[in-house]
Amino acid sequence: MAADKPTKRKRKSPGTAADVGGAFLRQRSDPRKERRFENSSSVGAVLTMVGGSLAALALGAGVFGQWFRGDGTTPHPYALHLLGAGVAFAIAILLFGQWGSLPVRVGDAGVAVERGTEVERLGWHDVQGVLLGGGALTFRGAGMSIVIPLRSQPEAAARALAEARTRIPARVKEIDEKALPAPSDAAGQVLSLEPPQIAGLRCKSSDKLISFERDARLCGRCGELYHKDDVPRRCVTCDAPLLG
Ligand SMILES: [Zn+2]
Repeated sequence: MAADKPTKRKRKSPGTAADVGGAFLRQRSDPRKERRFENSSSVGAVLTMVGGSLAALALGAGVFGQWFRGDGTTPHPYALHLLGAGVAFAIAILLFGQWGSLPVRVGDAGVAVERGTEVERLGWHDVQGVLLGGGALTFRGAGMSIVIPLRSQPEAAARALAEARTRIPARVKEIDEKALPAPSDAAGQVLSLEPPQIAGLRCKSSDKLISFERDARLCGRCGELYHKDDVPRRCVTCDAPLLG
């Protein structure tokens, strides 16, 4: 931090405008970051493809040997084995293969999944429930869910749960992260986020329409949105201190 700038601490003199406040109050233009995780194991994805091809090959050879050998009426002695192996292999690949999963993002703007050029986001303040099970960590919001597959995106899942633990602790009380690796600062690529779009949104505290971007204030922990005149002492969503 530059030495010539006065640093704002949590405590401020009484009577000043609720403009700059506690540890978690943010302006719309304040820098925000997130981490982007690609499918962690491209090796796994390649192996899945190779395995899938082998299964198809075995199946094809098995079918040919069993039914389509033109030179006689008896199937090839190994045909059934090939067929069986091919079927078993194909099932195993379907069940355990690492199909390329979508890139996942975790950070100040919540959790997100990239679908082509679209980034589907669920802000922390919009998370209604978190579920760890069925091979995935799922964040449920109103009308949408972000699903992070554990097998192909273990680092993203670990980071998402760790952040949820500090940002929205009440939503992840029941979750036991033993199934996940410890989040690593080396995993994922750090990206800067654009300022959030706030046009047409309302203050969570007063329900006032926020018409001007300069009037927007954010909870730096869960991303909840407030009008600058109606910032509560503590975030109504995550209880972070907003006014010092
Ligand atoms: Zn909050």
